[in-house]
Amino acid sequence: MKTKAIFCFYALIFFSCTEKTTNEEQEMTIQDPHSYAIPEESKVTHLDWAASVNFQNKVINATAVLHLENSKDAAKVMLDTKGLNITSVKSNGEDMDYSLGDYDKHLGRSLEVAITPDTKTITVNYTTSKAAEALQWLDPVQTADGNGPFLFTQSQAILARSWVPIQDSPGIRFTYNATVKVPQGMMALMSAENPQKVSADGQYSFKMEEPIPAYLLALSVGYVEFVSLGERSGVYAEPSVLDKAAYEFGDLEKMITAAEDLYGPYKWGRYDIIVLPPSFPFGGMENPRLTFATPTILAGDRSLTSLVAHELAHSWSGNLVTNATWNDFWLNEGFTVYFEHRIMESLYGRDYSEMLASLAAQDLQDEIAEMIADDNAKDTHLKLELEGRNPDDGVTSIAYDKGYFFLRYLEEKVGREKWDAFVKQYFTENAFKVMTTEAFIEYLETNLIDKERINIGTVKINEWIYQPGLPDDAVIPESDRFEKVDKEMNRFVQGTPAEELESEEWSSHEWLHFVRAIPDTMKIAELKELDDQFGFTKTGNSEVLAAWLVQSVKHEYESAYGRLETFLINTGRRKFLSPIYGELVKTEAGTKMAREVYEKARPNYHFVATNTIDEMLK
Ligand SMILES: [Zn+2]
Repeated sequence: MKTKAIFCFYALIFFSCTEKTTNEEQEMTIQDPHSYAIPEESKVTHLDWAASVNFQNKVINATAVLHLENSKDAAKVMLDTKGLNITSVKSNGEDMDYSLGDYDKHLGRSLEVAITPDTKTITVNYTTSKAAEALQWLDPVQTADGNGPFLFTQSQAILARSWVPIQDSPGIRFTYNATVKVPQGMMALMSAENPQKVSADGQYSFKMEEPIPAYLLALSVGYVEFVSLGERSGVYAEPSVLDKAAYEFGDLEKMITAAEDLYGPYKWGRYDIIVLPPSFPFGGMENPRLTFATPTILAGDRSLTSLVAHELAHSWSGNLVTNATWNDFWLNEGFTVYFEHRIMESLYGRDYSEMLASLAAQDLQDEIAEMIADDNAKDTHLKLELEGRNPDDGVTSIAYDKGYFFLRYLEEKVGREKWDAFVKQYFTENAFKVMTTEAFIEYLETNLIDKERINIGTVKINEWIYQPGLPDDAVIPESDRFEKVDKEMNRFVQGTPAEELESEEWSSHEWLHFVRAIPDTMKIAELKELDDQFGFTKTGNSEVLAAWLVQSVKHEYESAYGRLETFLINTGRRKFLSPIYGELVKTEAGTKMAREVYEKARPNYHFVATNTIDEMLK
């Protein structure tokens, strides 16, 4: 059984008239199909979390004190849980009546607690299960240094409920305090004010004073150290990774300043990064104050740090202005990709950011073609329909890159100056609020299109948001730097030896484009020549390597298979895994190889990765 959460929020809608602007509070109803919460009845506003992390049993024992804001006739509070073993629910020391709903494979179980309008707090004692989907417990061998075990969480989209009983909907925000006990010598970090030194007794306290949605709850426990990068930024990593990470993120302070110059002050105090072990399933996760990052961006030459610009940009888009439900995910990610490219443009110039845009266009066009071929045209709409599905299904290049190209289209329609003023106003006026796609359209029309008397018509906006694929007049960027790469690839195909290609000045992005441009008809001997010349199979650049491995599978270039196996076993970043496994399963021999490697690799992957790869190999 599945119930829907229906709740209301107040949005400030600005009506502009010819002479004056008036603000009017308008009540809107949002349905979050991925939460059992009914916040208009009772809403969590603050969490006090006390936890003890048990590496031996791979569980967290915890007490969650939930502070509630109740309506005048509240009779219950509805929470989300998944796999939690609840031992008691109390209020003021008294046992409360509670019940768990039926299990749903995506949503878990509702926790319904009977309350009165006067109930201020409830206290839930519980233990997480071994299968808790947000938690990844690593053995020492799965870490960089092998000094000890490691734990990290990944709560987005709806996995926070597997480690905290909470209203797990992006539309519900709360502040939190936490005390966490970990084994001596380990450092605990959260999406909060963090320590910079290991505590002698393994006891840590945390405070997050800005209200956040549950998907931004995060915890990491490991043998890590901290190094400062500037006044308000620094990096945490295992000792052997620390110097490399500090070098790689050397431009971080500049990035923060560039972001603020674009769209207003950074509102979260510090901005730190933790480099996690390689099984982290994403490139990065924008946990407030502490981005979680994959070590696969440590290329040694600062060439893959657009990912950091991306996570930093989320401090505005997503963390400040938050998608109301996962159907509105493009509001988080489209804005973030747009903002990321603008930060990269500020730091490294337009020709650099145009390479990123061009790579995004390739990904997007490929994915749209694939989705339409698979009869999933609806999933190419910006506004998604994920009810009854795993919200993770919405993590495609549609939300990211189609979202980006829509915003870029708007920028080009109105001109950068007016567009930037609008975006800044959007972040400022909607900070710490939620946004639906519909409220965004209204905001856009009122504050930009009508105000500036721009004639693009609602039709186009609707086409972008509610129609499949890309509208005809979408701007697909052409990167001059990539054109040069294409020219070199052509020369090679025409017979110029690899050693004579002009590639001295290329960045990671150019190399990535070069590898992707390898034609299907290329012969093994030519692949070998490229590999001998440019060292693709042994490159430390994970983006280039992942693209090369896809080409190796496609062309049955077996010299790369050894590296392919170690890469798949050691890396859990889904963005790399999906295309490689996806290419393998296209042939019978490849499928066999994929299954063999996966058997060894699977224990190293987080749930969000196994969930995807299981599906591919079933
Ligand atoms: Zn993102």
